[in-house]
Amino acid sequence: MKTEADTAPGVAGFNLAGFNTLSIPAIAERFIEVTTPEQLREELASLQASGLQPALILGGGSNVVLTQSRYPVVLHLQMKGIRFRGDGNVTVAAGENWHGFVERTLEHKCYGLENLALIPGSCGAAPIQNIGAYGVEIGEFVTAVRAMHRQSGESRSFSADECRFAYRDSYFKGPEGRQWIILSLDLQLRTQARLNLAYPELAAAWAAQSDWLNESELQITDEAQRLARVVAALRRYKLPDPAVTPNSGSFFKNPIVDAQRFEDLQMRWPGIVGYPLAGGQVKLAAGWLIDRAGHKGSVSGGVGLHHRQALVLVNPGRCRGAAVLDFASRIQQDIARHFAVNLEIEPDQY
Ligand code: FAD
Ligand code: NAP
Repeated sequence: MKTEADTAPGVAGFNLAGFNTLSIPAIAERFIEVTTPEQLREELASLQASGLQPALILGGGSNVVLTQSRYPVVLHLQMKGIRFRGDGNVTVAAGENWHGFVERTLEHKCYGLENLALIPGSCGAAPIQNIGAYGVEIGEFVTAVRAMHRQSGESRSFSADECRFAYRDSYFKGPEGRQWIILSLDLQLRTQARLNLAYPELAAAWAAQSDWLNESELQITDEAQRLARVVAALRRYKLPDPAVTPNSGSFFKNPIVDAQRFEDLQMRWPGIVGYPLAGGQVKLAAGWLIDRAGHKGSVSGGVGLHHRQALVLVNPGRCRGAAVLDFASRIQQDIARHFAVNLEIEPDQY
């Protein structure tokens, strides 16, 4: 997505439009590719000495809204490496592409991540919002996260408990956790495949594989590898490709309400979609709320909501962050007016 007009990394005035999947235009005064933890420590120390903290950390740029027109320093995390340690144990560096990693694990007969195929972005960002899809979350497999403190440069490991994984959330999403830059992850994957077909849409696609896979994919004997292909095909059909239509996936989180509140909403809106969670709460399908309020597929001033999945905000006009947030705020207000439910924005805003 880089253009001729872009200047080289490290040089002043680097265009970030090709480094965030919403294609929001913004300038990095310094854009630094970080390839090793040692380099990261040195860069952090020198930025601190020159008063240039905090730097904006970017992986794949698929979960951020850039709200400023200029950023003094951007650190683009590019540390690479995947190490299979046997018995399903694997360590992956933060800068590895997530989908590429999922494919490598399956090739090595390490199972569990197949439902998370084709999620954009880097491995380092994956634990931050505990990426999830089709009933699987990365937090189920992470045994440790290695990270470096932005100020002190200290490196340490966080156990799975310390990561505090929750629905699209973790310790690293909060104010304290944001002080840490993730270097690598340790995962314990399964050595035997156990397909998770709990989501009806995925179960239906699995049952009708010949509608989704090409001839050579249908010949793949490993069922988990084949399921990953079905997940990828479903996602390609349903979600806009950021390279064609800029977007950051789901723009709003599914709101969680208590059971009584859900019953009240059901009385007023009999078709409302909610999924029971452990502990008696209910997860509302935010896409249904947006659709029911009449916003699915709507576009205004270059920003809109996707016609197949109302939860996905699209930015075909490659508008600035302020215009994206302005559009989102109008949707939030309308959903609050219709249903008295608050929609929270999922991507991080800088
Ligand atoms: P970035 O956007 O680069 O960064 C996200 C945040 O993490 C920022 O705050 C950034 O500063 C910080 N960050 C990045 N790397 C590090 C690091 N190493 N250490 C510390 N902080 C860091 N998400 C899901 O959960 N499930 C889905 O199914 C899903 N589908 C998507 C589909 C599409 C089409 C798109 C565009 C997005 C989707 N997402 C989904 C959201 C997104 O892909 C994930 O959140 C992903 O993990 C973001 O990775 P990234 O490298 O692009 O992060
Ligand atoms: P979908 O299958 O149409 O489902 C719509 C919503 O209903 C989803 O938000 C999902 O919640 C929920 N849902 C569906 N079946 C469920 C079940 N059996 N139990 C509990 N919740 C259920 O969603 P989609 O848009 O096609 O996306 C497919 C998967 O990819 C979803 O898991 C979605 O979260 C994930 N995805 C995430 C992003 C992102 O940026 N965060 C973007 C695209 C897709 P959950 O969202 O909790 O799964």
